[in-house]
Amino acid sequence: MPALYRHDALRLLSRLTPRRLWNAAKVLASFYVARLSRRPIQWGLPITISIEPTTACNLRCPECPSGLRAFTRPTGNLRTDFSARWSMNCRPTCFT
Ligand code: SF4
Repeated sequence: MPALYRHDALRLLSRLTPRRLWNAAKVLASFYVARLSRRPIQWGLPITISIEPTTACNLRCPECPSGLRAFTRPTGNLRTDFSARWSMNCRPTCFT
């Protein structure tokens, strides 16, 4: 296993709790049951979240909606209390 992946794996394992493991098992099981039954089935909660803290960037990378100013929402930064609240709400089941 490359060193980069080993570090990621160890980091993930260090954050493993019974509740997160159970949630991940439910998400994985719902994926396979939905695949076999060909019906949408969703058990569990998201196991990861991604928060975009800003739509204000001045580097203008051509592949990025922020750089192209292509967002329909106003340019600005996420309020720190919003990010902290989401983090606390997702902490029991998400790998943060
Ligand atoms: S990818 Fe987007 S957010 Fe990141 S530096 Fe480039 S323009 Fe900014």
